[in-house]
Amino acid sequence: MKFKYFCEELDGIAKLDIGSRGVIHGLYPAARLVAGAPLTEALSDWLSRSIGPTLLVTGFRVLPLMVQETDGPPGVAVLAKVVSEILERRVVVAVEEPSVEILKSCLESVSVDAQVSELPVSEGLEHLARELFDSWGFGCVVFVEKAGCNDVGVYHNMMGVDVSRHHAKAEAILHEAKRRGVGVFAIGDGGNEVGMGLIRRAVELYVPRAKRCGCPCGRGIASCSKADLVLVASTSNIGCYALAAAISARAGVKLVHSAEDEFRLIKAALEAGAVDGMTGRREMRVDGVPVKVTASIVEVLAHMTSSYLDKTRATGSKPSDL
Ligand SMILES: [Zn+2]
Repeated sequence: MKFKYFCEELDGIAKLDIGSRGVIHGLYPAARLVAGAPLTEALSDWLSRSIGPTLLVTGFRVLPLMVQETDGPPGVAVLAKVVSEILERRVVVAVEEPSVEILKSCLESVSVDAQVSELPVSEGLEHLARELFDSWGFGCVVFVEKAGCNDVGVYHNMMGVDVSRHHAKAEAILHEAKRRGVGVFAIGDGGNEVGMGLIRRAVELYVPRAKRCGCPCGRGIASCSKADLVLVASTSNIGCYALAAAISARAGVKLVHSAEDEFRLIKAALEAGAVDGMTGRREMRVDGVPVKVTASIVEVLAHMTSSYLDKTRATGSKPSDL
């Protein structure tokens, strides 16, 4: 089986609308058109070929308590593990200051060693972005479910509420990366995340409140910043898991994430204070989807990766043969 076809199937899992949100069917074709290939293939290719440390940025805080949601940090933890252990890159992860313990708990739960950088919410990030790039020399940056602003600088949740004062102005990191010619990738599920401006027309067509938020800014929730490539999925975590499967298969190794890990990861996030992004409650869900369902999807991804590796070994072809 060609790697491209395998990634086609991984994309199929990533874009399965398990929460019936009704937006991924519109966002996926737009992202796919830009990538010109299955999204997991395109991103795994870029990440595998990049040189130097990788920066992963996440953080979306939700009502009513304005704490970090369960979508984001678990995906970052799995991606960090794959990037550090399989691609052998040093990894730096960044999140809003109040969410640091949640991200650290996720990293610990999958035993990944990554440097954690705290993003302040009350000041510009231009200086910090320059410092991070100067000291690490990143080869690529991946934003995962990272709250992004619209074209007048306002950050919104999916309901159109202005949540600007609770979020880091992370676009400064994207701009610094672009200024230095570093690849910028984004994983998201709603169109209001950093980087999703790349498929803005699709976001405006398919995402409720994309053009009219209902908040006093009146400019909609669609993110204005553009990544070089975006991976859209039913939840950002699942987008990360599918990408992790592609990176693993490409390198000829099994997926490091399992259903048991998934339960442990979400539990670790909740115990450190995270909540479900849909209900705002501390429960074993991600964007409203029960963890037994997301764990089943992890199980499917892990099995697909193992099968792919078995088949390519049986036919004597290299896993990444195109
Ligand atoms: Zn607004």
